[in-house]
Amino acid sequence: MKKSRKYIFSLLKKGQIIFCMVVALLVISSCIAVDIGTATASNGKESLDFTIVIDAGHGGIDPGSIGYKTKVKESVINLSVAKKLEQKLSEIGLRVIMTRKDENGLYGLSTTNYKKRDMQKRRDIIEKAHPDVVVSVHMNSYVRHNLRGAQVFFDKTSPVSEQLALFIQDQFASKLEKSDKGISVGDYYMLKCTKAASVIAECGFLSNEEDEKLLLNEAYQDKIAECIFVGIVGFLNLE
Ligand SMILES: [Zn+2]
Repeated sequence: MKKSRKYIFSLLKKGQIIFCMVVALLVISSCIAVDIGTATASNGKESLDFTIVIDAGHGGIDPGSIGYKTKVKESVINLSVAKKLEQKLSEIGLRVIMTRKDENGLYGLSTTNYKKRDMQKRRDIIEKAHPDVVVSVHMNSYVRHNLRGAQVFFDKTSPVSEQLALFIQDQFASKLEKSDKGISVGDYYMLKCTKAASVIAECGFLSNEEDEKLLLNEAYQDKIAECIFVGIVGFLNLE
């Protein structure tokens, strides 16, 4: 009797030990699962650790080009496209900095040399941001009214900018009207503000009646923003 009692106790003990081992295993495995989960999440976050500066061209007393028929200011359309682009980039978790968020220029008082001060301020914002990508949004204009379509400009001394330009132009060519024209070298102040990939997107001609009509259309502006967005995502290899 005593023996069998001992046997039962030893069985109970064995059972307890097994139970404890199972619990310990479960705890350890759940810890590992949490660890894997954390690693994935932090990896995901790291992969989106990029800063994009969006520069809406002109503003304030500097309207940029003027619409051929409607006399719309280029600065207004630039800002509208820039804001749509900002939203798309922010939505996927990228850090976005806008050089301007409203209709005002960045020059302070509109006294002599306001344009120079405006450009300097944009440069300051870009330098402070330590960006990976800079996109200046503009609308084109030309004395001959037949020119149409969107084109990306880059500085010839910057191979990364050329790469970014190719990604965005590729989107323009396939999704926007009359934009299968290839990228172009441009000698502009804004392209020399940073060592990061920096381009100017001229999104269509306000001097052309058909382009002007499209550029005023919200859905077409959204299409432009989507092209630049997809171009940036491709360039940063986030797909
Ligand atoms: Zn412009």
